Amino acid sequence: MRRRDFSKYSLLLGMGAMAGCKPGSSGSTDEQAKKITSKLNTESYTGFYTDPSRKLPARDFDVVIAGGGTAGVVAALAATRQGAKTILIESKGYTGGTIVEGGTALHSFFNIWKAFPGVEKRQVVRGIPQEIIDRLVKIGGTAGHPEMSVGEEFDSVCTAIDTELYKLVTFELLVESGVFVCVNTLLTGAIMEGTALKGVIAESRSGREAIFARSFVDCTGYGDLSALAGAGYTEPNDYDVCNSVGIGNVDISRIYDYLKSRDDIYQLCYGTRGGEDNKIIRIQGKMVNVPEEFSKSADEIGMTMTTTTMHDNYLMFIKFNMKMPVSPTDRDAVTKTDLELRKRQRLGVELFKKYIPGCEKAFIARTSPTLTIRRGRCIVCDYDITHEDVTEARHFDDDVFIYGFHDWAPRYLVKDGGTYGIPYKALRVKEIDNLLVSGMMITSDRRPHMSTRNTVSCMGQGQAAGTAAALCAQKDCGTRELAYDFLRGTLEKDGVIFET
Ligand SMILES: Cc1cc2nc3c(=O)[nH]c(=O)nc-3n(C[C@H](O)[C@H](O)[C@H](O)COP(=O)(O)OP(=O)(O)OC[C@H]3O[C@@H](n4cnc5c(N)ncnc54)[C@H](O)[C@@H]3O)c2cc1C
Repeated sequence: MRRRDFSKYSLLLGMGAMAGCKPGSSGSTDEQAKKITSKLNTESYTGFYTDPSRKLPARDFDVVIAGGGTAGVVAALAATRQGAKTILIESKGYTGGTIVEGGTALHSFFNIWKAFPGVEKRQVVRGIPQEIIDRLVKIGGTAGHPEMSVGEEFDSVCTAIDTELYKLVTFELLVESGVFVCVNTLLTGAIMEGTALKGVIAESRSGREAIFARSFVDCTGYGDLSALAGAGYTEPNDYDVCNSVGIGNVDISRIYDYLKSRDDIYQLCYGTRGGEDNKIIRIQGKMVNVPEEFSKSADEIGMTMTTTTMHDNYLMFIKFNMKMPVSPTDRDAVTKTDLELRKRQRLGVELFKKYIPGCEKAFIARTSPTLTIRRGRCIVCDYDITHEDVTEARHFDDDVFIYGFHDWAPRYLVKDGGTYGIPYKALRVKEIDNLLVSGMMITSDRRPHMSTRNTVSCMGQGQAAGTAAALCAQKDCGTRELAYDFLRGTLEKDGVIFET
């Protein structure tokens, strides 16, 4: 955005920035508005109001990263390290996203060697994701990557984190690296010129503003920016949503003894906990040899018992899953689900107190601010990763990192405990010149999505997309004009591992 263009864009903003209007393409304002707001039950409304146009203050950046979650943090760090003037827009008051709200461990920095006797252990993701782990290790926020003792065919290591320290470490890293971090800021609009994204609209208590840039990365999980920009997408609604809880005041040794005595241990990992080595940091019950009342009731409220911990007396992330009747982009349906999940959390803790020794005085120590999703919108990109790409361990001539974990193990695993490649084209939003995506919003087939949506994959995608966005801004080119060799050389220099 050049200064002299400012007034032109300010005028256009009022014409429907909230709706992702495309200046110059007639009719798009209304169409986009209808698409994005189509879930509002307008029957219950008393009328309509036309938002008057407003002149907004504008800022200029090289790269906009939308969403400061799992992928977004890494994307922003990668972009700023290439010298790009980078802004990160995050709606919550902290960074980290679903990594600090839902999952039990970060899957996976390694190949799944333990499921394939004779296969060598290999770290397959390094770069910025590993740097975050290294920094967490220093302050006791993770035990790193200890090997699993039981259940190793699922993930051969268990990278459990202290979620509160993860929020702090990522926030600090971003600020130290020079990213302009805007938390508590919601991205609400896209400013288009033909097929190019020119800017975004962000809203916070400080006001509404326009942010112009050359390249953009959508890391919102829900694909908000892509949808607002007019990208194609689907809403498969093919997963449960969840609100996980941390349970405090529990005795992990007694829980272990109880499950062990009933031959009910499904997963187990030892690592550093509370500053002491060789302590349980992951434990999962099979839920079959515990009292039937417990497992039956747990089933009814979608409660699963995989859990990790970095602290004595604390279990992180007992999951409460629930299938929504409609996609989680439906606000009113989410409201109902949020309430239902909180009711289930209370019932779940009551079950622990009643049936599991060591949990008699347990309480809910933390919950997520709202439900977490495994996917919302699936954004149409230049390439859609297939089931065979993942299971047959395929690589592409435009790989941007490699990955080896599958969350549907042991049914689906990456062939021979190897890796597949995530291609650059899978991150390029179709028909938009300068927008990349990273995170759970790529891969339409649920089977490969059960691999690509996992945290370490999202982080790897973030490093690739953030780097590419910065290089595009530097070269003043679109995402399709960026020379792959240049991108790959830069990623290699920054610690990304490639297969060939
Ligand atoms: C219950 C659950 C359990 C899981 N368990 C595991 C596990 O054990 N291990 C594992 O590896 N993976 C697990 N996953 C998967 C993994 O956690 C997610 O797929 C991954 O973290 C998603 O990363 P992301 O960057 O796409 O989205 P997120 O990490 O959710 O980041 C999106 C960010 O964008 C922000 N945002 C959204 N919209 C806007 C907007 N309009 N404006 C500004 N900001 C916005 C959000 O606040 C958020 O911070 C689990 C997922 C869930 C839901």
